Formats: sequence, C-alpha cells, structure tokens
Amino acid sequence: MNFHAVIVAGGSGSRAGPGGAKQWRDLAGKPVLRWSAEALLAAGATSLVVVIPEDARALADQALAGLPRWTTAPGGATRADSVQSGLHALKAGADEIVLVHDAARPFVAKHHLAALLDALAGADGAVPALPVADTLKRAETGDGPTVTVPRAGLWRAQTPQAFRLGALLDAYARWPADAEPTDDAAVMEAAGGRVALSAGDPMLMKLTYPEDFAMADRLAGAARTTRIGMGYDAHRWGPGASVWLCGVEIPHDHTLVGHSDADAGLHALTDALLGTLGEGDIGDHFPPTDPQWRGAPSDIFLKHAAQLIAERGGRVLNVDLTLICERPKIKPHRQAMRERLAELLGVELAQVSVKATTTEGMGYTGREEGLAAQAVAMVELPV
Ligand code: MG
Repeated sequence: MNFHAVIVAGGSGSRAGPGGAKQWRDLAGKPVLRWSAEALLAAGATSLVVVIPEDARALADQALAGLPRWTTAPGGATRADSVQSGLHALKAGADEIVLVHDAARPFVAKHHLAALLDALAGADGAVPALPVADTLKRAETGDGPTVTVPRAGLWRAQTPQAFRLGALLDAYARWPADAEPTDDAAVMEAAGGRVALSAGDPMLMKLTYPEDFAMADRLAGAARTTRIGMGYDAHRWGPGASVWLCGVEIPHDHTLVGHSDADAGLHALTDALLGTLGEGDIGDHFPPTDPQWRGAPSDIFLKHAAQLIAERGGRVLNVDLTLICERPKIKPHRQAMRERLAELLGVELAQVSVKATTTEGMGYTGREEGLAAQAVAMVELPV
C-alpha cells in the first residue's frame, strides 16, 4: 500500500477523565498513540506526521521511540487547524494519498486500510463507516421527552479517512474559518467532492469517555498477534586470546573462528528474531560471501533484525538464549551479556535471559571443538 499518514494527537482529552490527555495514556502496555502509529507504519506508510501540542515533543519521543519514518507538526487551536498543520508538514505530492487519523482510535488494521484505499479509487475521499444499529432518539435534556429519529441511511463515520493530498488542502482552503468540521470528509463534501464509504469496524472505536478504556483494554489482544522464532549457531574454536559472546568480549585462551566476529550468541539470537518475521536467516541478509562482513561486529546483525521488527510495528516481548560450551565460564559475564542485549534490542533487562550449560564432555562442544548457541524470541506484531 502506498500512502502517507497524519495522526491528529493534539487533544487535551477533557472528556476522558483523569490521567492526562488520552493519546499518551497506557493501553495494554503502550501509549494509545503508539497503537495506530505502529499499525500505519506496519501497513507501509511512506511517512507519518503526528500532530501534537507544542509542549508535547518529549511525550511523543517517548511514545514513539524506535519507530521509523515519523515526524511531528504543531497542533492548532482547532482540529481543523491541526489537520492542516499536519498536511503542510507532509513531504508528498498533490496526487499522493494521505490518510488522516485520530490518535484516539488505536486499533487500525491492514484490512481497514486496504478497503479504504479501494474505496478512494473512485472518489475524492473515503471514510470507514458503520450503519447505525441502535434506534435514535432526540431529546433536549437527559430525561426527555423524546422524539424517535429515522435511522435509515445514517452511518457512523470513523477514521482513518483517505484523500489525495492536493484535493484535501484545496477543500480546507475553501472551508469557512468560523466553522468547525467534525471530520475531514465533511470538508471534502462541502467543497463538492464525492466521499465514498468503506466497511467500518467496531475495532475502530474512539476512546472518548473513561469507560471506553476498559473496553479498549479488552479489545487490545485482538489487535495484536504474537510470534515465536528460534535460532541455532555454532562456531569452531581456534587460537586466540579472547572471544565475543552476546556482544561482550571475554578473555579466553581460544577464540571462535568465523567470517564475522563469530559471536554465536548474537547469530543465534538474530536468527530467532528473523524467524518471528519469516524473514529467512542471517546468511540471507548478510551473505558470508560478501567481504564487507569480514570481521564485522555482530551487533549490526542483531540491530538489523530489531529494526525490521520495529518497521513492521512490532516489539520484542522477550528473548532467551543458551550458550553451550565447557569453557570459558559464562556465569561471571552473564549479567553484562544481558545488559548488552537489552541495550541492542531497546528492551528492559527483565525481557532478556542468558543461560549456559555444558554437555558434560559429550559431542563437539564437550570435546571443545566448538561452541553452540540456541535462542528463542517472542515478538508482538499488529494483525
Ligand atoms: Mg554464526
């Protein structure tokens, strides 16, 4: 899918109750804003502009840490001002597609976007929408009296909404300054554009009231999937004075021999991470026939795998690694290895486990011909 995206995250969220503006609040382990940012980037957004209050840059940096291809733009006094600020910050051509999304709708999925872009193909704008199922009442006050309003032909518009950048900017330029549209499709309609509906989804719910967060917490699991990957590597011992294992150099009377720095721990873990994505193995990404990887520090292999996960909107939940050798003793270095791996992966120490075992003199590791490493990784990805 080929599109740019603007996420409007400028609200103060007064209706959502205590706990601060809703885009920064935690939803099942990460900020509300991060959910849709990850999903849009994972679906292939060429660039993402997040419109935030002037003083919220640090909050955005924290909420979107590690994600690629995003920048911020300053929010305005109204939602319409904020949207236009985001549109002007995009580096995109007039005919390119832009999705405008509200940060308060966390659960965007690829299939929503595919349907939306299909709908845009024959129109000036496209909006995910659900038919109104409840009977509608009009009342001046909360205790009535009521009048029943026909619901035939009524739809609930959601976001993201899709447009061509130039056409949406033109429509906003013609929108009266003293009127406040409640969505971008209204602006396109007012300019005479044809807006098409695509299939809406209850998962595109908007977090508005405090009770919405409880509902979203229950839905969060349906918006993410978990994947497991495994990796295995072995290298031969040769003459040397130190060995690299899990990104840590350990003094030893031998070293591991290989094309790179032969860090079997990092190689096994890199393969485990690539395995979560179905992205082949380390040799596919860094061919041993390529001279540029000769003697290379294996940090770059692991960082590459972690970057691929981040680009898919994923995050590492935990990794677990076992080194298999008679010598050197791993235990004195285990904490340093965990710290280094946590740093390379951008995760907490508690998410990284390093273990070691011998094979009691049996096999190639027991005869000290070589060292082996096994790793598993669990990763969470958008559906
Ligand atoms: Mg290797």
